[in-house]
Amino acid sequence: MTETPIPKLATVWLDGCSGCHMSFLDMDERLIELARQVEVVHSPVVDPKDFPAGVAVTLVEGAVSSDHDVEVARVVRERSRVVVSFGDCAVTSNVPSMRNTFKPGELLDHAYVETATANPGHPRTSGRGVPALQPRARPLHEIVDVDLFLPGCPPEADVIHYALTEILAGRTPDVARYTRFGA
Ligand code: SF4
Repeated sequence: MTETPIPKLATVWLDGCSGCHMSFLDMDERLIELARQVEVVHSPVVDPKDFPAGVAVTLVEGAVSSDHDVEVARVVRERSRVVVSFGDCAVTSNVPSMRNTFKPGELLDHAYVETATANPGHPRTSGRGVPALQPRARPLHEIVDVDLFLPGCPPEADVIHYALTEILAGRTPDVARYTRFGA
């Protein structure tokens, strides 16, 4: 008899403050129960750097703001059965979108030239430099298809736990019951 494989869980951190991941950790003792049900294959809280194939569910925190974010979002979509837009920055672009009224060049001028105290100049974006900024910070669903939206800044630990429990049981979570969009 072949054993049923343990579902793979991943979390990804794009242009966000990590607060959504902190809320994930706020599941506290429920993390132990979750660890028995899934294999965490990729996340800021585990070591593997490559994003594997065949992931059951991926939580994506943060807006899509750089060329690297676009690349990661596409890989996540291609390799995950369920992609969750995790928190308001992923759902609406939220805080990162505050920069959208400026051109990327203006932002770089301000951060790296006008307010620099040493070595003013734009960072290198080629080779091992920093990823180039996209013209706008965008919500995840503008780049790839999303299966579930978990709004909140951050989403509460109870909502994250409920959503993961339902997804892993093969059901579609009714997260509206737990968020401000609910009745
Ligand atoms: Fe941080 Fe809020 Fe954005 Fe989550 S939704 S990454 S907590 S700013």
